[in-house]
Amino acid sequence: MTAVRIRSVEAIAVAVPLHHVMRMAGVRISHAENLIVRIETECGRVGWGEAASAPTMTGDLQASMVTAVRQVFAPMLVGQQPLQRAQLMQRVQHAVMRNSGAKCAVECALYDLCGQLLGVPVYELLGGARRDELRPMHLLGNEHVEDDVREAEGKLAQGIRFFKIKIGVKPVEQEIRSTRLLRQALGPDVTLCADGNMGLGAQQIQAYCEGVKDQGLLFLEQPLRSDNLLGMARLARSLSIPLCGDESVGSPADVMALSAAGAVAGVNLKTIKFGGLSPVVHASHLCDELGLAINLACKVGETSIAAAAVTHLGLVMSNLDWGISLTNHYLADDLVRQPVAPVEGVIRVPRTPGLGIEVDEARVDKYRV
Ligand SMILES: [Mg+2]
Repeated sequence: MTAVRIRSVEAIAVAVPLHHVMRMAGVRISHAENLIVRIETECGRVGWGEAASAPTMTGDLQASMVTAVRQVFAPMLVGQQPLQRAQLMQRVQHAVMRNSGAKCAVECALYDLCGQLLGVPVYELLGGARRDELRPMHLLGNEHVEDDVREAEGKLAQGIRFFKIKIGVKPVEQEIRSTRLLRQALGPDVTLCADGNMGLGAQQIQAYCEGVKDQGLLFLEQPLRSDNLLGMARLARSLSIPLCGDESVGSPADVMALSAAGAVAGVNLKTIKFGGLSPVVHASHLCDELGLAINLACKVGETSIAAAAVTHLGLVMSNLDWGISLTNHYLADDLVRQPVAPVEGVIRVPRTPGLGIEVDEARVDKYRV
């Protein structure tokens, strides 16, 4: 194959409205402020990547992600061969500290591009599919539990059998009541878990877990702040519900530290935290070795560009015991012609080259900020 070179790397800031405001501890999200990366080759082939800004998770602001791509990554990549993606990403990873969101969007665009150039879906480049379909979970984060129940019942009717409740927003008695009402509405066979988003204190968590101990929660995600390793380890020893690390997990070293401390039984892996798709595959191998469960997830609310990337990862990873979450359906609009969406609760990943999505550039322009 003749050498294909990168002609341009564009960082595009977009703000896409959500259907309704999503509440979780410490944040209230009405618009998804995301970075879109568009990489074009000299032959006119285009690859797309995306990352959500996540000030309380990765520290990435939308403006800082755009600046990292424009000032540092784009000049390194233009004129280079995209098929050398591992070598290029090594340079990108070492060029600046952190900035995992910007690195993630660049790597995602390179994978989409390389898949198209080689004529294979991205999951083939990531190691090959271990499964044919995915059954995503649904996140509930309404202001009122009645809306959560209504939304959950609607999703249940559409074949969704796995829900995550955002807690740590209301007083703990109300959180307990909400969880119990949801369990009552959904029945005993539906999988339910809860995410504290660092919004609870140790005593509140003890009270919450006591109040829902008979509700069969699969796991409780990140109740304490991300740097409180000892607190998480202490909780893990006293609670009957397994703990999951999310905001506290952004590298293999974090996974090992949490595991060594006995602080978690599983982790939430997101591409924006690890800086791309291949680092998440590596982290999943580490989780396998350490016996940790995995929840693979998009950040609220990423469009079908990031959702597609996560579905390719979902086919490849050996262990998805704690499910997979997509977030594009919380958005009032999307940036692709055929949004990634489950049919009767099941997602089948396209077998077409690259990410298998068709980005609508007019809509990218519409939401550009
Ligand atoms: Mg979380």
